[in-house]
Amino acid sequence: MQIAERLGKIPPYLFMELRKKINKAKAEGVDVISLAIGDPVEPTPDSIIEELCRQAHVPENHRYPTDEEKGMLAYRQEVARWYRERYGVTLDPEKEILGLIGSKEGCHHFVLACINPGDIVLMTDPGYPAYRSSILMAGGEPWNVPILPENDYLPVFEDIPSNILKRARGMFLNYPNNPTGACATRPFLDRLVAFARETGIAVCYDNPYGEMVFEGQERLSFLMADGAKEVGVELNSLSKPFNMTGWRIGMASGNQEILAAMSKVKENTDSGIFNPIQYAGIHALRHEGASIDRMRAIYARRRALVLETLKKIGINFEPPKGTFYLWVPVPAGMTSLEFTNRLFEKTAVVVASGTAYGQYGEGFIRISLTVPDDRLAEAMARIGKEFA
Ligand SMILES: *Cc1c(COP(=O)(O)O)cnc(C)c1O
Repeated sequence: MQIAERLGKIPPYLFMELRKKINKAKAEGVDVISLAIGDPVEPTPDSIIEELCRQAHVPENHRYPTDEEKGMLAYRQEVARWYRERYGVTLDPEKEILGLIGSKEGCHHFVLACINPGDIVLMTDPGYPAYRSSILMAGGEPWNVPILPENDYLPVFEDIPSNILKRARGMFLNYPNNPTGACATRPFLDRLVAFARETGIAVCYDNPYGEMVFEGQERLSFLMADGAKEVGVELNSLSKPFNMTGWRIGMASGNQEILAAMSKVKENTDSGIFNPIQYAGIHALRHEGASIDRMRAIYARRRALVLETLKKIGINFEPPKGTFYLWVPVPAGMTSLEFTNRLFEKTAVVVASGTAYGQYGEGFIRISLTVPDDRLAEAMARIGKEFA
């Protein structure tokens, strides 16, 4: 029996070593606190769950989903309304929106829809690891575009070599950015559209943290930029804003041609989202905007607590204003992995080493704010004491 070579190209989990240590510590009864993973712990709002239950009792909803891989029209119409109200973006629900089983799925389908084997696909470094896996699984060649603190973690298009651009057919971007927390700006989105027009590169703008912005930061969608629909799609998701990561529901919006191709991939892969989940999604988008504000307030409070603790132990920095992560510089003289290990050994607090997101993640760790308040407070108390 053979296992496909393309799977071998996907980098192994970088923190096997750390994971082993965590499991060993847990087995020994150590109280391990993980701040490494971005997965909201607060429950999905009740009214969304109630809508799911109500719709789950309707027999027609047990069949293949309405409009199958496209997502039911009522869901796409609700997405259009959401984009109009929250971002001032006009979308045709018939042709410019596609339901997704989460934005991660969308990454994969984007590559299968737009990329031939051997084509280069640009992605940022640091960046979300699933981009690389999607590119590799489709036979594409990932090329890392550094995003550096001195450039506000935005790519500098002029620095991408022309021989790379010649072979590049797609690009993944994600702002508010996981892992750095950086946000895009309107001038940057205009530069992105211009860059895509000049090079013919299809843009996949992954925006699951669009709602997760702090300190007056403007909410931005790629589709707000003039001409965005001509050059790319935006992926979005109910996972992060509504604490619905397990539900698997999202959307792709924008360029009709790309969406039609992604739809064709989906038609031959899955058969869409369970109807009751789509109804629950409609309900979330229509009625639960206020729960996003509540979550934002919770994250803002946790953010402040972490920043205060870091300041106390001598880590002072100007944090970017998006996502529920903090991208924190490690103390001088230590690598990301050294600091990650040291933190774990001294305090049993687990954070993600910046290098898990690419070579330019060196010098940073990522702290996630998706932990219960009391656990975060305990983690910060331990860190404050140990590194005082
Ligand atoms: C969490 C996350 C996703 C996955 O979102 P789903 O909709 O749950 O698949 C995609 N992209 C980034 C950058 C993320 O952090």
